[in-house]
Amino acid sequence: MIKDKVVIITGASSGIGEATAKLLASKGAKVVLGARREQQLKQLVDAINSGGGQAVYQVMDVTNPADNAAIAKLAKETFGGVDVIFLNAGIMPTSPLSALKTDEWNQTVDVNIKGVLNGVAAVLPTFVSQKSGHIITTSSVAGLKAYPGAAIYGGTKWFVRNFMEVIRIESAQEGTNIRTATIYPAAINTQLLDQITDPNSAKAMTKLYEQHSISPDRVANVVAFAIDQPEDTNVNEFTIGPTTQP
Ligand code: NDP
Repeated sequence: MIKDKVVIITGASSGIGEATAKLLASKGAKVVLGARREQQLKQLVDAINSGGGQAVYQVMDVTNPADNAAIAKLAKETFGGVDVIFLNAGIMPTSPLSALKTDEWNQTVDVNIKGVLNGVAAVLPTFVSQKSGHIITTSSVAGLKAYPGAAIYGGTKWFVRNFMEVIRIESAQEGTNIRTATIYPAAINTQLLDQITDPNSAKAMTKLYEQHSISPDRVANVVAFAIDQPEDTNVNEFTIGPTTQP
C-alpha cells in the first residue's frame, strides 16, 4: 500500500523524481524530497501541499553523507519514520573515453555510486531495526548493456544493479524484510541530457531522444507499482522504455 507511507526521493527537483513525487503524493504517500535546486523543490512541495498532499523538502547533495543523514532525520521528525527510499538522483555526462573527461568520470562515480551508498547508509539501520523498508533505485538500460560513450555512466549503473541484488539477498538471509526494486529506464524525456559537454555525444543523444522517448511519469508508475505490492512481495527489476526504441 502506498497510502501513508513515508517516501524519501532523491533527485526530486526534475524528471523522474519530480513525476514520482507527484504520483505518490496523489496516492497518499508522505513524500520527503531532496536535490540541490531549492527553487524547484519548493515549487513542487508547495504544489503538492496545496493540492491536499503531504510533502517536505531538504536541499541536499547526495555525494555528502551528512546531507543524506539530514533528509532521513527530516522524514522521521516530520512524518515519524521512513518506509521507502527512492535513490534516483543521477547524472549522465556521456563522452568517449578518448575525450578523457576525467573530472566528469569522477563526478559520475560520486553522484551515481557514492550518492546511492550514502542514501542506503542513511536509512539501513532504521530498516534493519524496524524489520521493514523498501529501497528503490534508478539504474539504466546502460546498466544492462554496453553503450559507446557510456563507459563510466554505464559502469555506475551496473554497480547499482549488483549492489541492489546483494541488499536483497542479505536482507533475505538476515530476515530483515527489506524490499528492493531496481529500475532500468531507456530514453525518458527529462533534463538528463543537459549535462553532456561532449558535442558529438550531445548530438547523438539528442537525436536518439528526439526519435524515442517517453514521459517520466511512466517511470513513476513503475515505482508506484513496486511500492503497492504486498509487504511480503518483492518485485525486483523493471526495464522500461519507449515501444519504438530498439
Ligand atoms: P533529471 O536531470 O531531470 O534529474 C536528475 C535529478 O538528479 C535532478 O533532480 C537533480 O537535481 C538530481 N541530482 C543530480 N546531481 C545531484 C546531486 N549531486 N545531489 C542531489 N541531487 C542531484 O534526469 P532524470 O529524471 O532522467 O534522472 C533521474 C535518474 O534516472 C538518474 O539516475 C538517471 O541516471 C536515470 N535514468 C534516466 C534516463 C533518461 O533517459 N532520462 C534513462 C536511464 C536512467 P539537482 O540538479 O537539483 O540537484
